[in-house]
Amino acid sequence: MGLSMSNDDTNKPEAEDAAPLDFIREIITTDLKDGKHQQIVTRFPPEPNGYLHIGHAKSICLNFGISGEFPDARCHLRFDDTNPAAEETEYVESIQEDVRWLGFEWGDHLHFASDYFDKIYEFALQLIKDGKAYVCELSLDEFKKCRGIPTEPGQESPYRNRSADENLAMFEKMKNGEIEEGKAVLRAKIDMASPNLHLRDPAIYRIKKADHHRTGDKWCIYPMYDFTHCLSDMLEGITHSLCTLEFEVHRPLYDWVLDELETPCHPRQIEFAKLNLNYTIMSKRNLLRMVNENLVSGWDDPRMPTISGLRRRGYTPESIRNFCKGVGVTKFNGVTDLGVLEHSVRDHLNQIALRAAAVLDPLKVVIENIPEGQVEELDAVNNPNDESAGTRKVPFGREIWVERGDFMEDPPKKFFRLGPGREVRLRFAYFITCNEVIKDDAGNVVELRCTYDPETKGGQAPDGRKVKGTIHWVSAAHAVDAEIRLYDRLFSVEDPNDVEEGETFVKHLNQDSLQVVPNAKLERSLGEARPGQPYQFERVGYFTADSKDHTAEKPVFNRTVALRDGWAKKK
Ligand code: ATP
Ligand code: MG
Repeated sequence: MGLSMSNDDTNKPEAEDAAPLDFIREIITTDLKDGKHQQIVTRFPPEPNGYLHIGHAKSICLNFGISGEFPDARCHLRFDDTNPAAEETEYVESIQEDVRWLGFEWGDHLHFASDYFDKIYEFALQLIKDGKAYVCELSLDEFKKCRGIPTEPGQESPYRNRSADENLAMFEKMKNGEIEEGKAVLRAKIDMASPNLHLRDPAIYRIKKADHHRTGDKWCIYPMYDFTHCLSDMLEGITHSLCTLEFEVHRPLYDWVLDELETPCHPRQIEFAKLNLNYTIMSKRNLLRMVNENLVSGWDDPRMPTISGLRRRGYTPESIRNFCKGVGVTKFNGVTDLGVLEHSVRDHLNQIALRAAAVLDPLKVVIENIPEGQVEELDAVNNPNDESAGTRKVPFGREIWVERGDFMEDPPKKFFRLGPGREVRLRFAYFITCNEVIKDDAGNVVELRCTYDPETKGGQAPDGRKVKGTIHWVSAAHAVDAEIRLYDRLFSVEDPNDVEEGETFVKHLNQDSLQVVPNAKLERSLGEARPGQPYQFERVGYFTADSKDHTAEKPVFNRTVALRDGWAKKK
């Protein structure tokens, strides 16, 4: 499995890749060499309670990446759907779409933890029969109080020494809906004095009288995450269960369950550091809040750090995979600069994006020595980094649009663009000279009157005279009117979670994260643009047509990323 787009060598380690292996790939390599495993099996285990974000991409690239690098390895997609309240089919579908879009495939191995509920229930019965689990009727408050603090032993529950028969009967009652929510839980009987609170008789089953998106009303008890996860891994024959650092303290419980139940295999849990990005909020709970409170237009708002948001914004799967590769896999928590992600997409789009002209703030230029109605079709290079992209024809006539910012009425010496009496090169076309500036009654510049030099076709003057500036332009008679959406960072501070008591990240939302340009003028070739097709609007940035709102009649483009990193400059 692994990368679906490189089907020739997906099962070979990247031998020619000079980068050293990360610590997880080293462990796997050793396990294979030692004969501990013949086949590596990993899994990506999202909870379907929201859309995937760029942090998940790191885990996806790690788990599915490994499955593509080692012989016969595979990676499962498993939905960790143990919490009926928060989970929805919409999320299950979006997650699959996003994993596939990133370039990965799970083949026959699409699994749901809920498919194992019967088996997990049997394992719980086994623990009870073995005297290793008991039904506890403490309230949540009492439960927490008895658990205590790490430096002092906790207190044993008064229900701890119930007989196996009594526990079986009680658990049966829980299962049959005869006990109210919150009135009883099944707890593993481990060690109330352990310095690790997760081992102080943790709850492994709880009552939840809610319908489940897959099992309906079959169950009113649900296994807890820790109990479910290790058993699901074991049932699927996962060899290496890769998770983020906060689960390190859960590992002894993971191991305890598998040891006590004497399971046929025992996956090895290995923890790695989460991806954190500055200027970004990643937790699904908070992303959901932004969606619900209409602070963004949805999970796929192009400003969201979700995979669907990044896709709509114009990110490519390659750029996200390259980003994850560059970030690497370590044990150390850190914060990655959002600029690194932006650099990654800029880098990829620079190689693949078709070039085109778009004028965002149009100013009319009339070229007086071109007769009305005359149109010349000029050749323009589609991608200077990819000869195979070829050339296209761009129409050139008497009236064109240029950027208002490319003209100054009283320009300083170093301004090499248009000004009264100044000559400038039109990209792929001719030199023009500005002869006259037309203003409206209020004194605003509304039009420039220019002449072109027919001898300068292709941007060279036969007499050798030089012009320093080259500007982009769009033929007015052929222009496509479009709405352009310019995005900026969603938060105005590096750490949006850094707030005073009683405040939330919402206060740090960047009020200028979306700027709409209603009347941009695009070159003719952009009339055929489709969502997902990346373009470089020359001198402006990288753009793609919006997947929701763009139509041929009313084109809408999203700025994926500016040409240069404006934020780095500001700093
Ligand atoms: P969040 O805390 O953002 O809501 P989560 O960890 O609850 O995310 P899950 O659906 O449980 O989300 O995550 C699925 C997998 O993705 C887990 O293995 C988890 O460790 C991993 N993961 C989640 N966030 C990140 C991240 N920021 N960096 C790397 N891996 C992550
Ligand atoms: Mg979670």
